[in-house]
Amino acid sequence: MSKTRIAALLFFALATRAADLKKATPQLPPDPRFKTDILVIVAHPDDETAATGYLARAIFDQHKRVSVIFGTRGNSGGNETGNEQADALSAIREIEARRALASFGVTDVWFLDGPDTPGQDPLRSLETWNHGAALAKAVRLIRLTRPEVILTWLPLCVAGENHGDHQASSVIATEAFDLAGDATAYPEQLAMPRDRRNIGNLTEGLQPWQPKKLYFFSDASHTDFEDGQGPRYDAKAVSPAKGVSYARLIAEEMSFHLTQGDTGQFAADALKKNDLKLFEEPVRFIFGKSLVSSSITADILEGVPPGPIPFAPVPGYRQSQRSELSISLGGPWAFYSEFWKAHAIDRVGRLLSKPELMISAGERLVLPLIVTNPGPATTVTVRSILPDGWRELSGSALYPVEAHGSYTIQTVVQAPQDAKPGWVAKDVVWVAEAGGKEIGSAHMRIQIGSGGLPQ
Ligand SMILES: [Zn+2]
Repeated sequence: MSKTRIAALLFFALATRAADLKKATPQLPPDPRFKTDILVIVAHPDDETAATGYLARAIFDQHKRVSVIFGTRGNSGGNETGNEQADALSAIREIEARRALASFGVTDVWFLDGPDTPGQDPLRSLETWNHGAALAKAVRLIRLTRPEVILTWLPLCVAGENHGDHQASSVIATEAFDLAGDATAYPEQLAMPRDRRNIGNLTEGLQPWQPKKLYFFSDASHTDFEDGQGPRYDAKAVSPAKGVSYARLIAEEMSFHLTQGDTGQFAADALKKNDLKLFEEPVRFIFGKSLVSSSITADILEGVPPGPIPFAPVPGYRQSQRSELSISLGGPWAFYSEFWKAHAIDRVGRLLSKPELMISAGERLVLPLIVTNPGPATTVTVRSILPDGWRELSGSALYPVEAHGSYTIQTVVQAPQDAKPGWVAKDVVWVAEAGGKEIGSAHMRIQIGSGGLPQ
């Protein structure tokens, strides 16, 4: 038989067999009911109110979809409406948040199940939230909701940003922004189920998703450092769709959080008195990064093309080598200085001219310091230079530092009981010396305020 004839017979046989096969159903797309334009990732029920002046525009006037993730259910803090506390309070606050957001038409709301962790240190919140598990949940929800833009708190210690939980939510949001499109991250979320209509499927069938833009907002006591750093929305303007000011829409949404004195009760009272002045501050955002063409102060959704964009890997952590004996702030400050670079949001590190914090009069200030020694074993002298009336409780000493090692010092100083509210004229300074020579210093600018959480 000739080769041509064999080929013809083979083709005929295969064609017949293909015609006999039943046609498979098309691959199902991601569930379109959950596709969102804007995903808000915050810490507590009521944190969304920091962005509602913008969300009202996006939802009512531009018909955009918004979804929200809360890190906690708000199980801590006072209750202005009753005796319910702890888990009972979180049951209430979850519903307050759901009702508040439902008034804006937002129904896709999730919780990462972290406990409310009062304090100013985001690393302590990340610990109690079970950072790894919370991050996996956030990545899952980005893959499910496929947001164009993520809005979150500012990952930076600023005076007046007095909740470590806020910063913990922004650390997780930033990490999740960079991981959701990575097909090697949480692959169990991406593998197709063996039989989606049957029981016992242990993989999730999601698809990678790369969000396009990341913006931050802050509840700092001052806003000067935010000028020109991102879009700003006028809260006094009137929503074309609703016919009332965005300030009123902010207050209406906020008034659902009645267990909380400084938000729900405050807003309900303002609405009753029809005095919305305190809601008329512009809504400010800080540009984090954009993977599409967009200027820093442009509208949040500017430059967002429809459909997916390719995964955009970030630089990740690179170990830096210090060449000389040095001293620097530890704790969240040391973490952030590497975190911003690793996630390509270095611009956050340039927002403040020096580190700052707010504490109350008479409060203790705990500052971790790290002495890094790239050379042979040595001894380093550390001493404080404090503003008038401040007291050192611990820190000044001679520290032995191993060769090619480091020493972490937990310094504690205390503000005077009669410290006046406002910026303290002089910084809290720690100076380090070795071999009779100054090797460096760490500075902290302090604002005295009341009503904040303990540092
Ligand atoms: Zn909060």
